[in-house]
Amino acid sequence: MSAALAAPPLHARAAAEPTLADVLGEAWATVSTGVATECPVCAGSLQPRWSAGAGVVGARCGDCGTTLE
Ligand SMILES: [Zn+2]
Repeated sequence: MSAALAAPPLHARAAAEPTLADVLGEAWATVSTGVATECPVCAGSLQPRWSAGAGVVGARCGDCGTTLE
C-alpha cells in the first residue's frame, strides 16, 4: 500500500471555488462592520452606506455603482 493513496485528491479544491453568493456574502460581512472592501464586480472600492440610527444599511461601489442592500 502506498502512502500516496492517503493524500486528498487535488481536484477536491475545485469544490471550494466561491460562488457569487459567497463573494457577496463576504463583501457584505465586511461592509456591515463599517469597513470598505473590494467590489466583487469591478474590484473597486465598495463603501458602506449608513442610516441614522440603523447603522450600515447597504454598500455602494464608487467605481461601477454596484449596490448591496
Ligand atoms: Zn464596482
